[in-house]
Amino acid sequence: MSAVSPALREKILAAVDAGFDRQIEFTKELVRFPSLRGNEAPVQDFIHAELGRRGYAMDRWRVREEDIRHHPGFSPIAVSYEQAWCVVGTHRPKAEKGRSLILNSHIDVVPSGPVDMWRDHPFDPKVRDGWLYGRGGADMKAGTALNIFAMDALRDAGFRPAATVHLETVMDEESTGNGALSSLVRGYKADAWFCPEPEDECLARANAGVVWFKIEVRGRPAHTREMQQGFNAIDAAYRLVGALRELEKRYNEDKKNHPLFADDPHPLNLNLGQIRGGDWTSMVPAWCEVELRFAMYPGISAEQVKRDVESCIAAAVARDSALANNPPKVSWHGFFCEGFVLAPGSDAETTLKAAGLAANNRAIGDLVTPAYLDARVPALYGGMPVLVYGPTGREIHGIDERCDVESIRRCTRTLALFIADWCGLEPI
Ligand code: ZN
Repeated sequence: MSAVSPALREKILAAVDAGFDRQIEFTKELVRFPSLRGNEAPVQDFIHAELGRRGYAMDRWRVREEDIRHHPGFSPIAVSYEQAWCVVGTHRPKAEKGRSLILNSHIDVVPSGPVDMWRDHPFDPKVRDGWLYGRGGADMKAGTALNIFAMDALRDAGFRPAATVHLETVMDEESTGNGALSSLVRGYKADAWFCPEPEDECLARANAGVVWFKIEVRGRPAHTREMQQGFNAIDAAYRLVGALRELEKRYNEDKKNHPLFADDPHPLNLNLGQIRGGDWTSMVPAWCEVELRFAMYPGISAEQVKRDVESCIAAAVARDSALANNPPKVSWHGFFCEGFVLAPGSDAETTLKAAGLAANNRAIGDLVTPAYLDARVPALYGGMPVLVYGPTGREIHGIDERCDVESIRRCTRTLALFIADWCGLEPI
């Protein structure tokens, strides 16, 4: 039973609607920052200023590997963290009466791919036919804005949460999750953790674990007229990827033992994401590097996948005399993360689903996502109930990424009512 009266509910929802045009403009402003990994600082400065202006107590820190590498949730990195900034704005009530909350989002985006494939420039957002286009529009700057504007709506209605709320934007969700981890290590905990990733207005019931790894093959270069005397590193890398496809098949056949993923035709994808190699078209290539992403069911550790991948590669090498004479090197950096399951029936889930129904007169369904979510950090290591629920997106990590504008409105309405109920309210 919601503690929010029908009259108060209408007042809050009206405030969300009244601020919604500004919210979409704010979202576009966020998309204009090309906050690729390593380049999150400018948008974090912008958010720091915006939250500071609203009166939040501000915290900003640089993620340092030495502060988090001891943690079991750490993912190894091979990039500079010189500009790896996280930002938290904290609201503290006059009297702590309700349940505390973290409103999380990640501020990094993946590369745009070839710009000429986009209808508009990926960092020049446009609203067309009810969709907000732009890289990061759905994943997940609509969510960052949604968190901020749900809190704004409560203020515009004359209230503030009667419990501590941390509004946090973290870096590097798209390759490690180390930003979310560093926030936990810094001490940010709450009675619930909310993140509006683009989940088609559903609640994420479970997500997959993810690992990244690199295979480096050294060949024997030769003139192409004597190709048979050389050893083609690119061909050899393809043979190794072929062997890993067998492991991928085995992992997917095992879905019958993981009922949450059993309805997905192919839940665990091995993605050959990057390839580099060779120096000259008339030269047998001397080197090849492939970078891959693989996934696993919740409850399977990253260490287990590492063992499986390495023994699969070792077996392929043993069967291949050329490779056996030139063993490849396998290294692990980037995601090294387990998945999680949200156990049904938590107070947080019940409160969110009631808020969704009251806000939009529609039920919030469940979604099982075979992708990475930062929610694994608070779920596995913080003991927090995690609510990942956000707007509808299309072409996420693709070309012409977009977010359904009305779904952003509905999620903001849900979140504003959720905060009111979960935290309670006090007059300004
Ligand atoms: Zn995301």
